[in-house]
Amino acid sequence: MNLSRKMLFLLMSVSIAVGTSACKESVDELLNSTENSDDSGSGDTGSGDTGSGGGETNDEDDSDEGTETSEIECFGTDETDIDDDVPDWVKDNFHCSRIYTMTQNNVEYLVIETDDVPNHGSPYHGADSEYYEEVPDGNREQNFDLEEQDFVIKFPLTPTTDDPAVTVPGACGVAVNGVVFYQGSSSTGSLDDELETMDNGNGHVAGGSLQYHYHGTPLYVEDYQTALLGIMLDGYPIYGEKEEDGTEPTDLDESGDDPTFGHTHATSHFPNGMFHYHIRDWDNFGVPILPNSMQGDASSQAQVSN
Ligand SMILES: [Zn+2]
Ligand SMILES: [Zn+2]
Repeated sequence: MNLSRKMLFLLMSVSIAVGTSACKESVDELLNSTENSDDSGSGDTGSGDTGSGGGETNDEDDSDEGTETSEIECFGTDETDIDDDVPDWVKDNFHCSRIYTMTQNNVEYLVIETDDVPNHGSPYHGADSEYYEEVPDGNREQNFDLEEQDFVIKFPLTPTTDDPAVTVPGACGVAVNGVVFYQGSSSTGSLDDELETMDNGNGHVAGGSLQYHYHGTPLYVEDYQTALLGIMLDGYPIYGEKEEDGTEPTDLDESGDDPTFGHTHATSHFPNGMFHYHIRDWDNFGVPILPNSMQGDASSQAQVSN
């Protein structure tokens, strides 16, 4: 299993390198088709990764259907691996993570494991990386690079509001591409200063932990203004600055010192209605930023590790 996954990753890397698109469906096909076949692919005798058995040539995995499904291109060590019993709204939107459910002390959790390496260009991959990409004009690059993390983050499968969390230091959620979110207040010093170091994906690196993170809109997520952007630690979803139909959200919670900027209504992922956050330019940052307060109990933050 492990070996075939490695091979799948190798195959994906190769297909990315030659510019063909790997859609979710074809990835699943690849997973199945490589399960029992020994890909003799590179023929590089020097590699220790090619396994030993078989030697049977199989070049018939032609799964390029030319579909226009968005690419899944995960850098780092994480590939998309989501268990069947994970809720559809997560299964259908998240990638570059390992996602499963578990029960602990009679509470059901959704668990996301991610290496937190962004699946898009950034200077913070490092100057020698093929994914190096300069910061936008007017921004400045931080002088340290991201480090691959080992996040295992638990989210209540059924959010509860018994003990709402306010400020959460460090990772307070995960974007659909496996990168962690930080709140606006979790920065050291002024977020305005931090915003100057954002890359084209609107992410940058925390000093010390070297965790790559977004404080706001992940600009490389497709349809980021209206899309489901990720999940917060309390288990509630977060959407772009607009509703799915492109309209401005109304009736957002703006009460108190640390409003959640959330509200409840039906979305395409939750036809029966669901509380959700919207990112918002809530303090004249100039860009939409995550709220500093949570609607639900986020005590699972204790499970964040790296
Ligand atoms: Zn930051
Ligand atoms: Zn909404």
